[in-house]
Amino acid sequence: MLPHEAAPAPLVESMQLRHAGETSQLQRTERGFALPSSAGAGDCVSYSLPLAKLRGVGAPNRTQQYGKDWLLCADYWLWHPERVSELPLTFVLPRGFTASFPWPKRGGHYLLPVDAHHWKSVGALGELHTQHVSAGGFQLEIATLGDARPGPYLDWLTASARAASLAFAGEPTLSALVVLAPEPAREDSFGFAFHGGGRSSLIWAAKSATTGDIGTDWAATHELFHLLMPYVRLEDAWFSEGLTTYYTAILRGRAGALTDKEVWWELVDGFERGSHVAGDLPLQRESEQMHEHHSYWRVYWSGAAIALAWELQLARAGKSLDQLMRTLGRYAREAPALWTAEDLIIRAEKELGVSLWSVARPALERKAFFDYQPLLDQLGVHGDSRNLSLREAKLAALRQRLTQHAVQASLTADR
Ligand SMILES: [Zn+2]
Repeated sequence: MLPHEAAPAPLVESMQLRHAGETSQLQRTERGFALPSSAGAGDCVSYSLPLAKLRGVGAPNRTQQYGKDWLLCADYWLWHPERVSELPLTFVLPRGFTASFPWPKRGGHYLLPVDAHHWKSVGALGELHTQHVSAGGFQLEIATLGDARPGPYLDWLTASARAASLAFAGEPTLSALVVLAPEPAREDSFGFAFHGGGRSSLIWAAKSATTGDIGTDWAATHELFHLLMPYVRLEDAWFSEGLTTYYTAILRGRAGALTDKEVWWELVDGFERGSHVAGDLPLQRESEQMHEHHSYWRVYWSGAAIALAWELQLARAGKSLDQLMRTLGRYAREAPALWTAEDLIIRAEKELGVSLWSVARPALERKAFFDYQPLLDQLGVHGDSRNLSLREAKLAALRQRLTQHAVQASLTADR
């Protein structure tokens, strides 16, 4: 038996095998625990983990206690046999406790897909309050931690799910788990998106998340958008974060939560922040080392500028970035895969018949920030973040369409 591939430290001290009605201890090995060759179908491996041992382990705040509830990323405790296949998993929990994880359920247990053991996922257990909501392209299971209840966050999550789905319209709904950790002292909500064994998102929800306003609190729109995209390797954060960051602004406009000017202000402000910190490394290198260098602004907003360049490139060919997103959304629903940005773009551009990698590749090799000003000029986005105005221009009609609700209807019709 081996720990999760992303496990920061194997914390299990012993493991038992139940085979032919008898229970035996598994012997520890260098990498994990040895399963006897007699073990096979129908046998059950059991292990227990004192929750107190998980407190504060690994990345900060990924295993945290909220009252009687625990936020638990699966990589901290999930184990699997060396030859892994789809595996049933049952929690044995104290009375009154339940578990929420993003994996498929069958009967009273979870049925873990193989990728649940390789990729991260978030979940929770305790005296959880959970609620199911259907919104946009999602069937959401919402689990709140501690004293929080899902109720006060429902408007916000529903509006976020609808906004995030606008670019992908028409696909069958996707099941996802949102674990909400209340952080009323935080100024802004903040989260992560995971693809392991299903879709899950961890959101530290600020007070702003209880107002229902996605105009001021964009975190859930952003994370849920990630969940609709294919899973892309971390080194290509410019791609997954870029498209997501671009659409986080555009779709909140399209959903009516931001005015057009607010949408373009958010993008211009981001481009400015990104360009102020660019210059040390080519974008691809910066993207690979983003977490060590904390070069989030540079990577996220460079990617968002590339997304805007793609938007114009696709519009020139009579297509739209939404069409690219629907294509990517379709790939995301195929068998689980970890993609490189290049493989995804090359596949999608062949399907769409519009060259897109040729826009991204030179930008990835450059140390300077993406030259976004010519894009804004064509769209009639004038000035800088201190003094922004929207004007008549060659592509002003495109600019207006991007944030108009009506664009969705026409794009859905051409499917
Ligand atoms: Zn993100």
